Amino acid sequence: MIAVGLTGGIGSGKSTVADLFAARGVPLVDTDVIAHRVTAPHGMAMPQIAAQFGPEFVAADGSMDRARMRALVFGDEAARKRLEAITHPLIRAETEREAREANGPYVILVVPLLVESGAWKTRVNRVLTVDCSVETQIARVMSRNGFTREQVLAIIARQATREARLAAADDVIVNDDVALDALAQDVEILHQRYLALARS
Ligand code: ADP
Repeated sequence: MIAVGLTGGIGSGKSTVADLFAARGVPLVDTDVIAHRVTAPHGMAMPQIAAQFGPEFVAADGSMDRARMRALVFGDEAARKRLEAITHPLIRAETEREAREANGPYVILVVPLLVESGAWKTRVNRVLTVDCSVETQIARVMSRNGFTREQVLAIIARQATREARLAAADDVIVNDDVALDALAQDVEILHQRYLALARS
């Protein structure tokens, strides 16, 4: 089965576009959801996290103490790498398992960090980037999350650039000032293209 990697910066409209594919019966596998699950109560990463970071990083319910871990890895690049060395292989394996088990003509992998964590690009058959201007991202995330302009800019600065995401793309959905029915039409065109690819 072919896999389409869907990516885009924060507020670009990834989830909105993913929902439009789902409405057409395409199964979605979301790496953010899986990332959360591996560190949820008794998630697959928890034994290794307890062993390597100590039991104080495990909350009473068996999940990762997110606040504590965030505080640790914020200023400590080596600790971040150690955490990612535990979680990333599990996230990849779980994503691939879910993709294999999905029922549909093709599968959409929603991978916000597709460009940032390089290996994903080789694990999908096509990359679909949802693109919009930085100003649009700022406006959307300020209104969706109640963040300040500076907070949104700080997140954007940590993500891949718009140019890098466009360079990685096989297909692009432009999502600036686009009405939802026009967005749905763009998704429909790509859906037909992916169905044809899946058949060939
Ligand atoms: P992402 O998943 O990339 O962070 P979302 O799909 O959550 O982005 O979109 C960010 C916000 O902008 C959401 O509140 C969403 O409803 C809104 N949004 C996205 N695309 C459009 C659009 N074309 N028209 C109106 N609102 C949109």
